[in-house]
Amino acid sequence: MTYVIALPCVDVKDRACIDECPVDCIYEGERSLYIHPDECVDCGACEPVCPVEAIYYEDDLPDEWQDYYKANVEFFEISTGSLPAVGSPGGAAKVGVIRRDHPLVAALPPQGDGHD
Ligand code: SF4
Ligand code: SF4
Repeated sequence: MTYVIALPCVDVKDRACIDECPVDCIYEGERSLYIHPDECVDCGACEPVCPVEAIYYEDDLPDEWQDYYKANVEFFEISTGSLPAVGSPGGAAKVGVIRRDHPLVAALPPQGDGHD
């Protein structure tokens, strides 16, 4: 079980959640952040600080965003061109911004004001 970042983070990425995570397991992609499913300790600290309610406990993901569980898991498994898979680095700060997104996120049109 893990926490998951869903659609509302896309193109918002204000990074408020990163400051709350005690294990530094929230990684930054190009258009969204992703929670590492193996590194998250399910403390719940990130969820209430998200200004757009993008963070959910896995079991509480709204139906329309169920695919974001898979997106958060697979983000760390995929390799793209010369970029190897992220794997489990054990901390996001040392990794920095990862210049890609899960295909589900990458395929989205720009998310502006008014999406929910
Ligand atoms: S607080 Fe919410 S919107 Fe901000 S980066 Fe984290 S998940 Fe994305
Ligand atoms: S639930 Fe806790 S450990 Fe998991 S991403 Fe949020 S703050 Fe980090």
